[in-house]
Amino acid sequence: MLHNPRYAGVFSFGRHRQILGPNHKTHTRPVTARHEQIAFIPAAHPGYITLAAFDANQARLAECAAAHGTDRKAGPPREGPALLQGIIVCGRCGRRMTVRYHLARDGAELPTYVCQHDKVENAGPDCQTIPGAGIDSAIGALLIDTLTPLTVEAALTVTAELEHRAHQADQLRAAAVERARYHADLARRRYLAVDPANRLVADTLEADWNNALRAHRDAQDTYDQATNTATGTLTDAQQARIRQLVTDFPAIFNDPRTPHRERKRMARLLLTDVTVTKTADTITCHVRLPGGQNHTLTLPTLKPAWLLRKTPPHVVAAVDDLLGHHTHTEIADILNNRGLTSGEGRPFHKLTVARIARNYQLPSREQRLREAGLLTLTEMAAALNVSTGTVKTWRDAGLVNGHRFNDHGQMLYDPPGPNPPTRHQGHPALTKRRPAQTPQPIATNQRGAV
Ligand SMILES: [Zn+2]
Repeated sequence: MLHNPRYAGVFSFGRHRQILGPNHKTHTRPVTARHEQIAFIPAAHPGYITLAAFDANQARLAECAAAHGTDRKAGPPREGPALLQGIIVCGRCGRRMTVRYHLARDGAELPTYVCQHDKVENAGPDCQTIPGAGIDSAIGALLIDTLTPLTVEAALTVTAELEHRAHQADQLRAAAVERARYHADLARRRYLAVDPANRLVADTLEADWNNALRAHRDAQDTYDQATNTATGTLTDAQQARIRQLVTDFPAIFNDPRTPHRERKRMARLLLTDVTVTKTADTITCHVRLPGGQNHTLTLPTLKPAWLLRKTPPHVVAAVDDLLGHHTHTEIADILNNRGLTSGEGRPFHKLTVARIARNYQLPSREQRLREAGLLTLTEMAAALNVSTGTVKTWRDAGLVNGHRFNDHGQMLYDPPGPNPPTRHQGHPALTKRRPAQTPQPIATNQRGAV
């Protein structure tokens, strides 16, 4: 009953057609286009509803069916914050994308747009998964940019121009009606003036009069039709209201108290659909507006969390450079003094430096010093043929040169030169020989150096 136009006062025939299939079976196919039906006569009898109401019902039914169909085209706006729910299209396969939500740390719902038709139907992978927060804010900004008072002013100016043209066209059509009426009147007077004895002339004039009347009626019909279909003009009050709405739009759209559902309704009035494609670096959004305008937005893809926290390359290079001369604690202090921060934006600590050195497989300070030919305490003692304790005493006295390679005060020693110190150079004459200009690397290294 909902689909039968008979209830709208229409006589119709041939809404279904039978076609013969290749297997000699007949199939019934609906004929949706009215001009293809055998008969479609509006107002053939009084209807329960008007034809316009019937058409509106059909459109609404088709829309609701689409929301439940495989395409899920533009279902009703729901409560979630995903602005593009129902109007976002996958740029790869051209099908509607669905929305998935997850909670952020602060409790906010973050949308993710997912194309999962292939997954649902064929157990394949997700076609595209695109984080929605960035797209939503970019589209929102685009809408606010698009609907500025300036653009509306331009639209109202165009409307005024169109009204002016429509008025001109109306005058032309009115003149055509007037002309047809004059010709009909002339034909009538000619017919009345003829002598009835001249039957042949009278017949011809009568036919002329008929034609002129028909032409007049057609012109009148055209005029009426054009007048009925003409869009109404905007009054000054309506124009002022439109301007006010446009001025208010950004505030309402951005107000957190505006329900998501209302925000989506506003977006749907201003957007036809948005087609998104994600590549490795960018997300491209093709935005269609109802007026036939198109916009293309290119957004950067969100980096994964590990990449966001990654140590910047110049910091790694600095650590590599400083490891040649400093321990981890010293490096952390130097980097902090330079105003650098770790990948997470925090100040450096010796453990951070140690982690960077380990993760990036930077050679340790010990390795570097050993490669430069420096000796351990035991090796130094063997080379000098003294005890390790004597080496430490000599180091404190400045007779041999030690380099700290870690924060525990451990040291490596320069190999003894051609004139190594000898045993009798120890105390007590030592204090005299101590060269004042040889600074110790760090004052604390007397404690527990090995
Ligand atoms: Zn897809």
